[in-house]
Amino acid sequence: MYLDHAATTPIAPGVLTAMTDALAGTFGNPANTSHAAGRAAVDALVDARGQVASLIGAAPERVFFTSGATEANNLAIRGLVERARVARPGHVPVVLVSAIEHRSVLCPVDALETRGVIDVRRIPVTGDGVLDLAELDRLLELDPLLVCVHLANNEIGTIQPIRELVARAHARGTLVLCDATQAVGKVDVTVEELGIDLLSLSAHKFHGPKGAGALYVAPGVSVEPQVTGGGQECGLRAGTPNVPAIVGMGVAAEEAGLALAAGEGDRVAALRERLETALLELAPCAVVNGVAAPRLPGIVSITFPGSCGGELVEELRELQVSRGSACSTGSPKPSHVL
Ligand code: PMP
Repeated sequence: MYLDHAATTPIAPGVLTAMTDALAGTFGNPANTSHAAGRAAVDALVDARGQVASLIGAAPERVFFTSGATEANNLAIRGLVERARVARPGHVPVVLVSAIEHRSVLCPVDALETRGVIDVRRIPVTGDGVLDLAELDRLLELDPLLVCVHLANNEIGTIQPIRELVARAHARGTLVLCDATQAVGKVDVTVEELGIDLLSLSAHKFHGPKGAGALYVAPGVSVEPQVTGGGQECGLRAGTPNVPAIVGMGVAAEEAGLALAAGEGDRVAALRERLETALLELAPCAVVNGVAAPRLPGIVSITFPGSCGGELVEELRELQVSRGSACSTGSPKPSHVL
């Protein structure tokens, strides 16, 4: 049984059909609108952009397609820092990151810090895996350029206080990048209402294909493109777009929105409760990580004291579970989140 949806989700049947149709039929290059095939590809992108925008409560023209959330996070961080450096040469801006961000955020900020381009400060989290707002307030006194906090954690599922974060950050003139990869399609995410400046998402986390994602950029926020060439995606991300994957992402977004409206979140949360209760009955010493925090419906993270995670996962042969983030499973180091 597959229980590793935080790593990736299976393709939904409707997504597969739409993608197969697009692979066969929507082969035109959307950059070439002088013929019907190119225009059909443009129409497919317009539809998908609308579907993705609608799932996150954004205007379609603020959604830019990427190859996934890793690229979207890199584009947001590197692109924003580059713009800031042009605006204020010689200035080394402060960037805040939560201590439990995904590697696709931690790696680019660490790389920029190593080059002496930014000054990175980590915002600690409480024992339950939620941003420490008092520490955030202290760090915001440094007047950072950017604060990066994900909407929900990919290992323990804790949901972060984004509304409070945005209010505090904006009061200091600081922009907010929210990696919403685990949250989109699982809980309501309304980016314009939350006031988020930059938001990343990835189709394969909500039953869409791998290799398709998006960056939302709020009006008035400007990032320097990191991949240049043909000027696609309004110049923000060059390269012929992967039309069938983007079509699949659009359909996945629409289906996820419908499922959420029909109460899918509550259904999955009830299953999570059942599973956790049963596991705690079997192993009373077990600890549910982040138990006191608001959490995503579909993530269960448990510590079994005295047991080795790798061995446990080996023994659960018929259950496909994970002992950490998919991006770190090869690493022998303990999870930075736990
Ligand atoms: N951020 C988070 C929170 C994630 O869980 C993931 C996927 N593991 C990513 C970013 C990277 O997404 P992608 O696979 O689209 O590069």
